[in-house]
Amino acid sequence: MGIQKDLMTTRWQDAPQADFAVLGKPIAHSLSPMMHGAAFQVLGLEYRYVALEVEPEELAPALDFLRDKGYEGVNLTVPLKEAVMPLLDNVEDFALACGAANCIRLDDYTGINTDGPGFIETLHDLEIDERKDVLLIGSGGSAASIGLALVDIGFNLRIWSRDPNNAARLAARLGDQASVSVELDPKGVGMLVNATPASLFGESLPVLWGRCDPDAVAYDLAYGMQLKFLDDAAAHTRMCVDGLMMLMEQGALAFEWWLGLPAPRDAMLSCLLEAKL
Ligand code: NDP
Repeated sequence: MGIQKDLMTTRWQDAPQADFAVLGKPIAHSLSPMMHGAAFQVLGLEYRYVALEVEPEELAPALDFLRDKGYEGVNLTVPLKEAVMPLLDNVEDFALACGAANCIRLDDYTGINTDGPGFIETLHDLEIDERKDVLLIGSGGSAASIGLALVDIGFNLRIWSRDPNNAARLAARLGDQASVSVELDPKGVGMLVNATPASLFGESLPVLWGRCDPDAVAYDLAYGMQLKFLDDAAAHTRMCVDGLMMLMEQGALAFEWWLGLPAPRDAMLSCLLEAKL
């Protein structure tokens, strides 16, 4: 398809005429415009999807501005997913429970969260042992969304965060199926999920890899580069998975919610794989 990654940053005040956008800061690295562009192209849709830089304190005027300009919907990424909540008129139950939304329809200011459901969609081929706990690393927005989605389908979670108070707060929100792990001990765990950006900084997490069950799956939500967490896991786990498939699935769910059409997942994934090369 010959899609090129555009690393220019466009401020929301300079938004071009378009229909959808991903908002955040930093944002130039986002693969969402390419992925949604590939989906529109393969279905012959005339929509345009762009990336726009928005600071949290500018979010309210930015959303009004984009709605008035004719944008139909936006995705939100760091640091806007929580900041958007008080600005919404309608919030689906799952997003409300997470305290974060990543997908907004602008005509009625409705917000949903497709991170957790998108993550769950990626588990089908991984054959995770459902009787074993999941070790969830991190306690930010994506950890909350994924934690809630995992609890909803019956998993028990151990949550570790570098600040144990944050792990305790998230565990309390997720209820009886979640507990705090004071050490990053993977003994008896079926899947480890890294929901921190540590790999993006080239940092290792203090996982006691020697205690990891060999049939465990290591899953890092980050993508697009060599990931330290997966490098560290490789010798100890059955399978290492990065966040590219989740990026595609959360985007596909957003696409389907906005447009009411089945998302062309194959086209979206091949575009991401091409960009990753
Ligand atoms: P947040 O900022 O909301 O949360 C980050 C969490 O990671 C916090 O618990 C934070 O702890 C912790 N943390 C940050 N830096 C470090 C570090 N160096 N070592 C250990 N813990 C750290 O981010 P998100 O939850 O939105 O995103 C987390 C990751 O997930 C990112 O890599 C992001 O790119 C990825 N992601 C991928 C998606 C996909 O589609 N594949 C979708 C969403 C996110 P503290 O509170 O102490 O700061």
